Amino acid sequence: LSEIIRQRAWVEIDQGALSHNVRQLRAFLSPSTELMAVVKADAYGHGAITVAQTVLRSGATRLAIATLGEGIELREAGIIAPIVVLGAVNNPEEIAALCHWNLEPTICTPQQAITFSKTLAELEQTLLVHLKLDTGMSRLGTLWHQATEFVTLVHKLPYLKIVSIYSHLATADDPDPTVMKMQQKRFEDAIHQIKAMGIDPPCLHLANSAAVLSDRSLHYDLVRVGLAMYGLYPAPHLESTINLKPVLQVKAKITQVKTLAAGTGVSYGYQYISKQDIKIAVVSIGYADGIPRNLSNRLKVLLRGQFVQQIGAITMDQMMLDVSNLPDVEVGEIVTLIGFDGKNSISADDWANALGTISWEILCSFKHRLPRIGK
Ligand code: PLP
Repeated sequence: LSEIIRQRAWVEIDQGALSHNVRQLRAFLSPSTELMAVVKADAYGHGAITVAQTVLRSGATRLAIATLGEGIELREAGIIAPIVVLGAVNNPEEIAALCHWNLEPTICTPQQAITFSKTLAELEQTLLVHLKLDTGMSRLGTLWHQATEFVTLVHKLPYLKIVSIYSHLATADDPDPTVMKMQQKRFEDAIHQIKAMGIDPPCLHLANSAAVLSDRSLHYDLVRVGLAMYGLYPAPHLESTINLKPVLQVKAKITQVKTLAAGTGVSYGYQYISKQDIKIAVVSIGYADGIPRNLSNRLKVLLRGQFVQQIGAITMDQMMLDVSNLPDVEVGEIVTLIGFDGKNSISADDWANALGTISWEILCSFKHRLPRIGK
């Protein structure tokens, strides 16, 4: 089947690179710090099930996802490692599903904790839960200065067993650590007060990829790593820390080659008009596959190890290349949009820089129409 699917366009996932990255991270962490693999959003577009299997074999001990559905997908695939739901779950049907699938929710507010405890009493079930503090991200969680009341309440509530207390950093990829250090201080002060109440949280965590690579004092008992596992650095100043290999490549095939006379318009809107006779190649991938139309006329791809210019508007399923400088380009040749070919490479960071966004968004943008093929 994978040979038939490969006829058009695909995402190639290098499990060896993934495993290498996890081992690099594992070696960087102290042996007592657990590695939680963040595999939400279909493992940042890499395919959650196979990624989860590989990272658990390579040194990760827990998984994190954003939605209940993502957790159920992993359990249905037979994955038995602890799975934390990072997003908020609120209603009784969802709570019953958490119990059924043995998923560990994040509890963000006292009200949510009370709802959980009541529903769990009716279900006669206990859940392992993770408590979220907001130390400055201003997203989910109870504000750090209300942490003691929150944690004390949950500690007393029946049917809830606290596994961890955590928070999330807003600026860990910024070379200036001021905000990150402020968040860390708020986190530590809150934990100090919680301990003073006689509650000893079993596990503390704060770090994402950037925090892991920038400051060991942020590692605590566990780190939650996404981007670095997929082989990308969260910021240029962190590139000298550990050796990471990009896991994902995007490739497509040439479906037609032809020569156009000088003055010919290419693609919708004639955004490109040839100045001289040119040879073009049509490639079977487009914006419906997740290639940003905004890169039209700016995208460079790799063919035979060389950079080739994309020309004209990128269309839903196809795009055109100027291959005038390459001899005898043929139907069936493989074009690399992100990845390696010979000595050259194109990264998700290159696209992110061109589009004014972040590599996380690029990785998550490739659609399901592109099959994920293992290597
Ligand atoms: N922790 C939480 C709560 C997150 O939302 C994310 C991702 O957005 C991560 C950890 C992992 O972040 P990164 O991909 O930067 O390692």
